[in-house]
Amino acid sequence: MKPLNHAELISIAEEYGTPLYVYHAEKIKEQYERLLHAFSGSNTIFFYACKALTNLNVLRYIRNLGANVDCSSINEVKLALHAGFPSSRILYTSNGIDFDEIKEAKELKVYINIDSLSNLEKFGQHFGSTYPVGIRLRPNILAGGNMKISTGHDKSKFGIPVDQIHEILSTVNKYQMRISDLHIHTGSEIKDVDVFLKGIEVLFDIAPHFEDLEFIDLGGGFKVASREGEEETDIPLLAKKVGDAFANHPYKNGRPLQVWFEPGKFLVSAAGSFITKVNVLKKTSAAEFVSVNSGFNHLIRPMFYDAYHHIENISNPEGVVKNYSVVGNICETDTFAWDRPLREVREGDLLVFRNAGAYGFEMSSNFNSRFKPAEVMVLNGKPHLIRRRDQFEDLLRNQQEVI
Ligand code: PLP
Repeated sequence: MKPLNHAELISIAEEYGTPLYVYHAEKIKEQYERLLHAFSGSNTIFFYACKALTNLNVLRYIRNLGANVDCSSINEVKLALHAGFPSSRILYTSNGIDFDEIKEAKELKVYINIDSLSNLEKFGQHFGSTYPVGIRLRPNILAGGNMKISTGHDKSKFGIPVDQIHEILSTVNKYQMRISDLHIHTGSEIKDVDVFLKGIEVLFDIAPHFEDLEFIDLGGGFKVASREGEEETDIPLLAKKVGDAFANHPYKNGRPLQVWFEPGKFLVSAAGSFITKVNVLKKTSAAEFVSVNSGFNHLIRPMFYDAYHHIENISNPEGVVKNYSVVGNICETDTFAWDRPLREVREGDLLVFRNAGAYGFEMSSNFNSRFKPAEVMVLNGKPHLIRRRDQFEDLLRNQQEVI
């Protein structure tokens, strides 16, 4: 499916203003169907890692597609419930959280992955064998696009290190806990499918210790292409290799193990475009700067982990190509792109950042007391406002004026 074209984006920007996030719903569907198609015939299901984008309309759209949802906070769990996911389709993969939150998740009857020995012990003490639970392991595998988005290596804070298996088993046995799921998530932007295979090997090694095991959760992290021609995770190859691995170990106590994945970026990244307007052009000896009406307060990925976003000047698509440094308008260095070839840019032009659906709006803030952008969803060819732009009152909301 083609991304939204220039004319569509310009017309949406004219109607709703900028900066603006625009999501193309059918692109999310296309991505989900690619997964379903590749894994058809295997016992695999998908939990959308909603940390990527939690707008209720996106959640509902994905719920209607039939996907499940993976949450990373109790509030995401509540948003998922609010969006109509039944608790049986919600997974909460916790990370360094207060045990009270795990208790709340248990009361809400969702699946839970525990990521520390401390919370495993508390879970055992409180609930013993009464509530099945999953364990997030750290498999000590280095994977992912770069260190900031790599989570399974031997210095990472995430999961219980697999070398602490004796401590895990001692807790599980002490409280006769029912461990239904073993989970790993080794990072984001994993192109090499063998990383998942390595993870499976680690989990298969320890799986026999867990009598009640039903699910193997391999996390998310599929790589998407952010530049033309860039390689993605080969999903059909992944499906084939995972299928083969499980074909050799399909049963645990006579029951097939179900495979879970938690894709975030893969589902929503390409569906999103972020439209900004050029405020100022500034020529210096170092660069020609294009300052847009945004910054890392709205799209932090380039500054936070060097993410690449393709940028197009949709107002002047036939202009001559020149090199520009695209920056924001906040009071910190907020470079979106350095020395990037773009069609000639003029003040007032609209620049669109592609692949902005995942971790774009979701990681935005009100830094510099700027408004968060509005969000629009294009559904069946029609744009719908799904979050209004902040207003001044939003900056005052929650503030207590004691002076
Ligand atoms: N699952 C877990 C536990 C995660 O921490 C993340 C991302 O941080 C994801 C899934 C989704 O990763 P991605 O968006 O790269 O697919």
